[in-house]
Amino acid sequence: MLIEKVYFAVDMSQSIVLFGPPGAGKGTQADAIVEATGKPQVSTGDMLRAALAAGTSLGLEAKKYMEAGELVPDDVIIDLIEERMQQDDAGDGVLFDGFPRTITQAEALAKIAEVSLVISIDVPDNAIVERIVGRRMDPETGDIYHVTFKPAPAEISGRLIQRKDDNEEAVRTRLTAYHNQTSPLAIWYAEKGLLATVNGNQAMDDVGAEISAVLN
Ligand code: AMP
Repeated sequence: MLIEKVYFAVDMSQSIVLFGPPGAGKGTQADAIVEATGKPQVSTGDMLRAALAAGTSLGLEAKKYMEAGELVPDDVIIDLIEERMQQDDAGDGVLFDGFPRTITQAEALAKIAEVSLVISIDVPDNAIVERIVGRRMDPETGDIYHVTFKPAPAEISGRLIQRKDDNEEAVRTRLTAYHNQTSPLAIWYAEKGLLATVNGNQAMDDVGAEISAVLN
C-alpha cells in the first residue's frame, strides 16, 4: 500500500494556529507546543477571562457571549489580537489557541501575522460534552483535570474550579458555534496547504506525539 506523506515546511519564525472544537485539548497541547517551540501562547479565551476577572469594559462586553457559549463579536477579538501582536515577545511568531474562530478573524489575522502551520485536533462531538462537563481547573497552577479521566490529587481537589461555560447547555451552544462558524476554517486553511490534522480522540500523550511528529 502506498502511504502518502505530507511534509510541512514549518517556518519557525512564523505563527502556528491550534485549531479544534471546544474540549479538544487545545490548552493542554498548547503547553507542550510552547515548550517545544518557545513561542508564546496567545489564547483569546484566556485573555477574555482575564479581562472579565479584572472587570474591564472589554471583559464586561464579552461576558454575556462567553457565558452563553456564543462567539464574542469579531471586531472585539481582532482589536485584542492587534494589540497583543504589538508586544515584543510576538516578533518571532506566536501559538494562537482558540483564534481565529471565523473566516473574518482569519482574514484579519492574515494581515497581522504570517501563519506557517495550522494544527487541527479532531474530536467527535459525542466525546466532547462528557469531556467539558467534567473539566476542572486548579486556579493556582492553571492545570486542567477531569472528574473521571484525570482526577486531581486529593490535597488540591478542594480548590478546583469549574468554568462557568463548562455546563451542558453552554457546551451545546459552543459546539453549534464551532460547526457553523469555525469549522469552515479547516477547509480555508487546507486550501492554503497549511492544515495538519491529528486525532484528538485518544490519550493525551498520543495526541502530543502526533503533534510532535507534525512539528518535527
Ligand atoms: P475558549 O477558552 O477558547 O473555549 O473560549 C471561551 C469563550 O470565549 C468562547 O466560548 C467565546 O465566547 C469566547 N472566545 C474565545 N476566543 C474567541 C474568538 N477567537 N472569537 C470569538 N469568541 C471567542
